[in-house]
Amino acid sequence: MWFDHHVHMEHGPYSPLEYPIAWLEEFLAVGEGRGVSGIGIVEHAYRFTEAQGLLPGEWSRQRCRYPLAGYTAFLDVVRPSYPIAVGLEMDYVPENENGIRTFLSRYPWDFVLGSIHFIGDFGLDVSEMKEQYFHQPVEEIWTQYYAYSMKAAQSGLFQAITHPDLPKIYGFQKPPESFLLGLYREFVEVLADMGVALEINTAGLRRPVKEIYPHPALLAEANRAHVPITFASDAHEPENVGLYFPQARVLAREAGYDTVVFFGPRGMEHIAL
Ligand SMILES: [Zn+2]
Ligand SMILES: [Zn+2]
Repeated sequence: MWFDHHVHMEHGPYSPLEYPIAWLEEFLAVGEGRGVSGIGIVEHAYRFTEAQGLLPGEWSRQRCRYPLAGYTAFLDVVRPSYPIAVGLEMDYVPENENGIRTFLSRYPWDFVLGSIHFIGDFGLDVSEMKEQYFHQPVEEIWTQYYAYSMKAAQSGLFQAITHPDLPKIYGFQKPPESFLLGLYREFVEVLADMGVALEINTAGLRRPVKEIYPHPALLAEANRAHVPITFASDAHEPENVGLYFPQARVLAREAGYDTVVFFGPRGMEHIAL
């Protein structure tokens, strides 16, 4: 039994003004075939007009087009009758922390995922910006990335931090292992102190890097620091729900984990691996 903690419904017949329940049922049906008994639904916060002014980068600022109420009305309908947890994937911008807190307080989410997709205007996973990886030293990019990630964890706004080594997405050269290890250790200490979970995100296998997020070395540090983990496909279509979870399980077991968690209507729950 798995819980897929990071599923977007934003493609297919869906529009942010209309969320067909049949579309949700397709995600659940595919999941069931892969042993996924529940999913965590998230919208990107940048879709919503109420998040205008809170987000990083012009790229996300141009996408705040839809009322949050359309999403929450759908959640109100499906919450009682489907095996789901409901949340948001929120970009964290330290300067906007108070505004983000107010934005998040608009609805009783089961969980909120904290994400670092941007360093300033540089979208780490925005393909038309990938040249920017060559405009500054890689050490700088990775250091900034973990500085933001630690601040996100320290904010207390999030239950889990997503795809926690996103700058590897294109498979470009990374800083030396010893350098990264220093960043990983600092990061997991903050997660442990704040009781924030780390996400194992299998979408990395569908990206040029062809690796699950995070790297096994980060996962091993997280386990040493007793940081809980979640499993996530980051599916945007039903076909990807629960995809590569057996590989995620192997990775988690090798790092020393024997349970995975999810944040549902009853708070944090454990699943044996
Ligand atoms: Zn993301
Ligand atoms: Zn996502």
